[in-house]
Amino acid sequence: MTEPHEWDEPTWRGRVEAVRAGRNLLPKSWPGGARCAVALSFDSDHETNELRDGGNSVARLSWGEYGARRGIPRIRQVLDRYDAKASFFVPAVSALLHPEEQKSLADDGHEIGLHGWIHELNTKLDATTERDLMHRAADTLEKVTGRRPVGMRTPSWDYSPNTLTIAQELGLLYDSSLFSDDDPYEIVANGTPTGIVELPVEWIRDDAVYFMMNRFGAQRPYTAPSDVLDIFLRELEGARAEGGLFLLTMHPHVTGYRSRIFILEEILKRATEAGDCWIATHAEIAQYCAEQAGMTVKGMK
Ligand SMILES: [Zn+2]
Repeated sequence: MTEPHEWDEPTWRGRVEAVRAGRNLLPKSWPGGARCAVALSFDSDHETNELRDGGNSVARLSWGEYGARRGIPRIRQVLDRYDAKASFFVPAVSALLHPEEQKSLADDGHEIGLHGWIHELNTKLDATTERDLMHRAADTLEKVTGRRPVGMRTPSWDYSPNTLTIAQELGLLYDSSLFSDDDPYEIVANGTPTGIVELPVEWIRDDAVYFMMNRFGAQRPYTAPSDVLDIFLRELEGARAEGGLFLLTMHPHVTGYRSRIFILEEILKRATEAGDCWIATHAEIAQYCAEQAGMTVKGMK
């Protein structure tokens, strides 16, 4: 294995070109004349964060259980107050541990999307294993909710050189794990458009970055909840000003607490009072962008 500074151009260029941002899919206008689209997502990792690490800490498993037991109901109360539909990305093992939660969310019009098998890191897997887990995860979510997932978010936004091919095999409409833009774009593979919509994410718009805590490491929450709200609202206002997409990632075991749930409430309040935000699931937004761009809409039955 040569060192990166010894690589020839096809090697370094090949790595970059494998998965790239293609054309911008920002529509000329959003439904109902809205100024921006608001996509709220909740990654329902629950117990899989501990399981993925091979841990058997009962306390850490109970932290995951809190996400299902208190986080999800509290989040749903707020969403219901604003009649807002959201996307929940759920590892298959989490769905099997909490099938009623997924079924009930789907029955209420929320989206359940792929989030790996047990929150595994794709870059640590060989292609065969990653493919097997993603297919099994899609089958599991379909079995639990009665609906085939049309979109995915890779666990920890970890995306291997094989992930895109597997997403294509699964016929997915969209991915929401990459970072190349603020607004939706089409993913291209080695210069070829894939027909898959990317709804880009950012650590800036992720609650876990600001709030996570590790007892035996140096990691501590370092931003006040009010400051996190300020950052999120600035992202929302920026999307409104530019006519773009505001996509937020939250976690039931991170945001679903009494001292933090107001962040979700305030965002929905601002978006609703503004009167010009289209609050929709990731699938609805990806479908709309694909249709407006004249793409064949995948995954939707
Ligand atoms: Zn996750």
